[in-house]
Amino acid sequence: VTALKESDVEMQAINRINELLQTCTVKEEAYKVITLMAGDLFDLRPGAVAIVHPEDQHLETVSRWGGEAQMEAIFKMQDCWAIRRGQPHEVSGSGDGLPCTHFSTQPDGGTYCLPLTVQGETLGLLTLTGKSAQADGTERNYHALAQSMGEAVKLSLSNLRLREKLKEQATHDSLTGLFNIRYLDEYLPRELHRAARAESPLCIAMLDLDHFKQLNDTLGHHAGDGMLRDVGALLSETLRQSDMAIRYGGEEFLVVLPDSSLADTMQCVEQIRTGISAIVIPEANDRVGQMTVSVGIAMAGEHGTTARELIRAADNALYSAKQGGRDRVVVYSG
Ligand code: GH3
Ligand code: MG
Ligand code: MG
Repeated sequence: VTALKESDVEMQAINRINELLQTCTVKEEAYKVITLMAGDLFDLRPGAVAIVHPEDQHLETVSRWGGEAQMEAIFKMQDCWAIRRGQPHEVSGSGDGLPCTHFSTQPDGGTYCLPLTVQGETLGLLTLTGKSAQADGTERNYHALAQSMGEAVKLSLSNLRLREKLKEQATHDSLTGLFNIRYLDEYLPRELHRAARAESPLCIAMLDLDHFKQLNDTLGHHAGDGMLRDVGALLSETLRQSDMAIRYGGEEFLVVLPDSSLADTMQCVEQIRTGISAIVIPEANDRVGQMTVSVGIAMAGEHGTTARELIRAADNALYSAKQGGRDRVVVYSG
């Protein structure tokens, strides 16, 4: 009867974790829920959850509960036998079994590692250390509990990953990695309000690559894509953290520079213009010249108050730059 009651309480706890995790909208919230709930679930005995960063496959410990932090904050997939073998891995209290190297010191009482895998992809790791790591029958079955909890954590992590990916796709351009025009619609009006309220300057610059069609026609679409990617990287490198670069259209980019005077903006844009003309075009072999860019600049307040007005002014200035012979920067003038 006691065992049944216990298992009922456990089921309720797992259901509650599941429910809470499903309502989390960002990973950080989920980590907090895991830490809070796991402490209760495992009777305050130590354990941790680490997640895999998909970019370079390293693991980061995001949640710890029940005492000492023996889990390394950052480690590699190879450091864990459970991940390497794709199945739970246990080291007994007396130290039998291969020890994982993601513990800063080998915990007393043994370790239990459970890989969190969804459709063959490892998303993370759940570990228990000390007494709860052993399934010796005299204690509660912490392994089964870890597996139930692992299921809930897995589901939540893969949902959150998908959500982040969709958000990224909705607001970013996949070729250059810059923000897309949809994001601009939400971002620019907000920044304009902020600038007006703070009475701080804000400038935008509209960039259009010169004779870009020629590059495509001569060296192919692939070379064109490479150039767009290089320009995207150059913008990200050159701009300040607080500036924003957007792929506005095919070979058009819009840069928003909050807290930037006209003079500062001119200087920054000039740097970008020189940077673009220095981009090395692979296999150009004199068949195409260096890439150049024309830029139109407009300043909030002076040349327009709404996003639409400001963009129109910058576009206007860009047109003048093209008319004036390309490879130049023009500030809007009525
Ligand atoms: P201008 O100096 O007047 O701006 O001349 P241009 O050739 O740059 O201008 P135009 O607008 O005629 O040509 C833009 C070209 O950009 C046409 C289109 O094929 C190309 N383009 C648009 N998007 C992409 C893309 O994603 N990849 C590649 N490779 N080319 C693209
Ligand atoms: Mg164009
Ligand atoms: Mg162009």
